[in-house]
Amino acid sequence: MKIPFNKPFIVGKELFYIAQSVIQNSQLAGDGPFTKKCQKWLETQFGCHKVLLTHSCTAALEMSAILCELKPGDEVIMPSFTFVSTANAFVRCDGTPVFIDIRQDTLNIDENLIEGAITEKTRAIVPVHYAGVPCKMDVINDIAAKYNLLVIEDAAQGFNSKYGNKFLGTIGNIGCLSFHETKNIISGEGGALLINDKKFIERAEIIWEKGTNRSKFFRGQVDKYTWVDIGSSFLPSDQIAAFLYAQLEESEKIINERRRIFNLYLQLLAALQEKEILRLPCMGNDCQANGHIFYIITKSLDERTKLIKYLKEREIYAVFHYIPLHSSPAGIKFGKTFGGMEITENISERLLRLPLFYGMTDKEVIRVSDSIKEFYSH
Ligand SMILES: *Cc1c(COP(=O)(O)O)cnc(C)c1O
Repeated sequence: MKIPFNKPFIVGKELFYIAQSVIQNSQLAGDGPFTKKCQKWLETQFGCHKVLLTHSCTAALEMSAILCELKPGDEVIMPSFTFVSTANAFVRCDGTPVFIDIRQDTLNIDENLIEGAITEKTRAIVPVHYAGVPCKMDVINDIAAKYNLLVIEDAAQGFNSKYGNKFLGTIGNIGCLSFHETKNIISGEGGALLINDKKFIERAEIIWEKGTNRSKFFRGQVDKYTWVDIGSSFLPSDQIAAFLYAQLEESEKIINERRRIFNLYLQLLAALQEKEILRLPCMGNDCQANGHIFYIITKSLDERTKLIKYLKEREIYAVFHYIPLHSSPAGIKFGKTFGGMEITENISERLLRLPLFYGMTDKEVIRVSDSIKEFYSH
């Protein structure tokens, strides 16, 4: 009985809506009826001015970077403990990522280090909500206001999580979501740009439509459409949106299911944390999340390597996560590091993500937990 780390899934009308997009709507290209439905759904449910569906969160981050209008050498502060796209998007626009360390508890950007990293060249802060757990957005927004910086939320993992009464992705100037098959709500590859600051809406639409004013044309605001700015093909096909819309309709069920699995892991492994054998994800008000990742933190890299092997021999696939960006070849070439990176380096060697997917049974969660307990009983 193999337990994969992740498993793509169907919950409702995904295939029916794809058929509908072809047969009834006769539109497979982007910005069709299902794209509009998904955008409306996200705008209404999350309380966001404008949402543009993209083919990935990477694309949404790239659009955000274009919207920042960086000059060569302008700096963007972000954690080193993140996915490459967070940094790459800004590097492609001549920006310099400035990497800082993370907090010990949430593994999110340490908001207390941000102010020290600000220089005359700083233009933006990019908080990444790791495992769907919110960054300290009130502190980050206050710093941004004080120094006139933009806040771009990398909420790739943050679908449906809240900070206070606001959904992640709707708190900074711009937010970016991912619907990659490894995330909570999926469409294969997929993402969304959430625009919370109205001044970015018009240009974002143009960038999204390959640098043309096509959206304005279709609204009858101009009588022909033409090339007006830089842009690219950032839209997903409408059948991708069709698949996604079915997932959005069932998103509450999906998230509740993931939270259930997450809480079962917490309960089953609590004893190991009490005995200080390993560390579990942080709990409490600040850490309320969407059940995106269940991780454990082992004592050392060596112990983690042995545990991965032990689980793999039992056909259980647990995986580590980010290799820090600040010390990666491209990170050294394109970025700068501010301050020490002890926590980032340390956590990156010790963190292990356990299997967690929609449809995972109690029996499977118990088998993973029992195997971990067995490993530590030797
Ligand atoms: C998954 C992820 C991305 C990239 O998302 P894609 O949709 O695969 O482009 C970016 N940032 C973070 C933090 C992620 O977890």
